[in-house]
Amino acid sequence: MTARIIDGKAIAAEFRQEQAIRVARLRDAGIVPGLDVVIVGDNAASRVYVRNKALASEAIGIRSRIHELPESTTQAQLIAAVNRLNIDPSVHGILVQLPLPGHLDSHDVILAIAPEKDVDGFHHDNIGALVVGDPAFYPCTPWGVMKLLEHEDVPVEGRHAVVVGRSNIVGKPMALLLIRAGATVTVCHSKTTDLGAMTRQADILVAAAGRAKLIRGDMVKPGATVIDVGVNRLPDGKLVGDVDFESVSQVAARITPVPGGVGPMTIAMLLANTVHSAERAAGLGSRAETRIA
Ligand code: NAD
Repeated sequence: MTARIIDGKAIAAEFRQEQAIRVARLRDAGIVPGLDVVIVGDNAASRVYVRNKALASEAIGIRSRIHELPESTTQAQLIAAVNRLNIDPSVHGILVQLPLPGHLDSHDVILAIAPEKDVDGFHHDNIGALVVGDPAFYPCTPWGVMKLLEHEDVPVEGRHAVVVGRSNIVGKPMALLLIRAGATVTVCHSKTTDLGAMTRQADILVAAAGRAKLIRGDMVKPGATVIDVGVNRLPDGKLVGDVDFESVSQVAARITPVPGGVGPMTIAMLLANTVHSAERAAGLGSRAETRIA
């Protein structure tokens, strides 16, 4: 079997188009959605991510501002910067780019963001809402994965989904969204003893471990849908996922590539969360329309 490649780039472009229409509607009503990104220090990869988010925002009419703070920024200064954005009515989405320099505590910074502007979906209020099934900002990467599955008509209800990784920003919310969609979910992590025995049971396998080519073809059930969240840079500079594309694409029915799979969806969902926040602040749209679900 040769797997069908899920084209995340094309699907994300469709989503961005939908968001552009919503932004135009807001602008017609005199509201300019605003996304403010705070970056601390000089992490080269973070700078690229932040720039890409800003460009994607501006391309659909979201006003985007990047707040560059020096490496020496203290916890109190960073929280003060977040607080200024919390009370600024022109700001609908606040994102603090992670990782932060070692002397800063990202946990407390995330909790300082007003939950209604937390477009990354990392604040406890949003994660808690996801746990109990209330409307919330969902973390962009796992939400993007759900949208990919939906777009590709991959059956989720009643299927066995295996998530490799248990981080707060990918693995855990991914498992919650899959449970919510009716899957039976197994979560694997660095302490899982026989990873292959678990992954071979998956109808849907989501790899989010940050380990290059961790998942090989012999670890995948024939006909499975394999979603590769991982982004790893090899010594030669090449970007690869957590899935060994060559061997897994011979076994799976569908597979996402790296790059061009989950990554573009993450940004598209960030835009969707920002637009939703602006609509909600403006009292536009019915609850059903604006419900993030
Ligand atoms: P993380 O380091 O916080 O978490 C990794 C998880 O994988 C941990 O729970 C760990 O227990 C598990 N793990 C590590 N080694 C394992 C192994 N050998 N077997 C089983 N489980 C193992 O990372 P994260 O922030 O969740 O990100 C995961 C990957 O996804 C990274 O490569 C990251 O770059 C990528 N990522 C991509 C996007 C995107 O938009 N495409 C967004 C976020 C993260």
